[in-house]
Parts: sequence; structure tokens; C-alpha cells
Amino acid sequence: MLRDDGAQFMLKDLPVKALAFKNISVEGYSRAAVQTYWRIPELKIGFDLGAQPWSFMGTPTWFVSHTHIDHLAALPAYVARRRMMRMEPPLIYLPEAAIDPVQRILRLVSRLDRGRLPCTLLPLRPGDEVELSRELVVTVSATRHTVPSLGFVVWERRRKLKPEYLELSGEQIRDLRLGGAEVTRETRIPRVAYLGDSAPEGLDACPAMYQAEVLILEVTFVAPSHRKERIHKFGHMHLDDLLERRDRLRNELIIASHFSTRYHSRQIRTLVERAVPDMLGGRLHLWL
Ligand SMILES: [Zn+2]
Ligand SMILES: [Zn+2]
Repeated sequence: MLRDDGAQFMLKDLPVKALAFKNISVEGYSRAAVQTYWRIPELKIGFDLGAQPWSFMGTPTWFVSHTHIDHLAALPAYVARRRMMRMEPPLIYLPEAAIDPVQRILRLVSRLDRGRLPCTLLPLRPGDEVELSRELVVTVSATRHTVPSLGFVVWERRRKLKPEYLELSGEQIRDLRLGGAEVTRETRIPRVAYLGDSAPEGLDACPAMYQAEVLILEVTFVAPSHRKERIHKFGHMHLDDLLERRDRLRNELIIASHFSTRYHSRQIRTLVERAVPDMLGGRLHLWL
């Protein structure tokens, strides 16, 4: 919606929680079987399209972890809004197996709506690397769920002087450069990891998830009475799975989300605080 002066105001539609961390912010909401959507506005990317708050429309690139309805349902609405607002067609990355069916769905929705749905759908496989810009790269890993599913790590790339040249003067480095020598090397910092829906193997399969500054992960079940074997079979995590991996988690911020609707928010907080009184040294944040 636009005001007369063209400035956008906040429209109250879907819940959005936000948390600032260093020079980025994490925005979104996630509840199992309801809706999941996240974005990092500063990095111009989002994860999952289970719903699309009006304020998320300006984010042009999305990574869809898997095609369960609560992670995908808003795709046509998002594409249509961007067209209506005369924004560039978005770029949407999906698990490879989803490309063809999603393309067909968009064609049918387009026919019902009698409106074009311009977007680029791109397939992803575990092991892929997506270059977003000179500074940003996204790597793709396998997760384990009940449909084809992927996890993502966003890396910041920097070029650093190779250690053997650290003692040289600026002039010497310039000469080496002019002589064709590669004086810098690339370093990568894992900034944000997004697990999507997955049994704990998805986390273990991607060591960078344990190293990322921010880890956004699903902890669908938190009650001690909920059986882990069943939870894993359906491709989900229990709070105990996270706690078993406590020593490996190097993250500065761990966002636990995607809680089951069987729990009330208060109940989740109570159960987690009872199981992890120190909240992993204050790093564990419940997205409620
Ligand atoms: Zn889900
Ligand atoms: Zn799912």
C-alpha cells in the first residue's frame, strides 16, 4: 500500500519477529505446519516462502529449503506482488526435483489470476555454490526430511594478503601485482546458516552450520515425552538433539524455531529453560 508521498508504511498482516546481530538483522516467523519465512534484508536474501509478509516483498532472492506447503504456499502471491509493484522479477532457488511441478503450478495460477508471474526458478543440489555477489556466496547441503530438502550457509568473502607478502611495502606489492602475481587469497566467513526442516543428520552433514555466526534451525519438539525415533523418522529435531551437540556449536547466536503447534509458547519457554537453564551461554534464542 502506498501513501500519497509514495512512502511505504507498515501494513499489519503476518507476524514478523526481528533480531539485530552485528551488521545484519534476522526477520521472520516459523511454526511447524503453519508457516515459515525468514529474511536477512541487508543481504537481500530470504529463506522459505510459507507466507509472505507485505514488508518482505522488496527482498529479491529466495532459497526454498523444501516444498512442504507451509514453506512454499506464498510463492505465487510474492511473484505477483513484485510484478504489480513494478519490481524486477525475483530469483527463486528450489530443490532440483521441485522445479518442474512449481513451474506448472505457476502457469495454472497465472491462468486463474489472468496475470503474468514473471520469475526465474533455479535448481539446487547438495554441494552447489551460488555466487550472489563478489562478497556473498551461498553453499547448499543435504538435509533429511520426508521430501527432497536442502540446507544453506551464507558466506562472506574477503580477499586478504597472502602471509608471505605481509612484510612487504605497498610499492613492492604493487610491483608483484603488476608482474602478474596473485598476492591475495580468498577467506570466507560463515555468517548465517539455515537448516530448514531436517532430522539431526542434516546438521551433522554440514560442519559449517556449527561454525556460522548465526544458526537458524528447527527444533520442532521440546517435551521430554515426545519420542525421538519417531521425530527423526519424520525428518525433524528434538531439543535433546541440539543439547547432545552442545560442545560442537560454535555459533554466536542460535535461533530455535519451527516449534510444533502442540505446544503453547509459554510451555515451550518453560520446557526449554528447564532443560537448558543457561540458554547455551545466552546464545540460544527462542523464536516465539
Ligand atoms: Zn516445516
Ligand atoms: Zn517440512
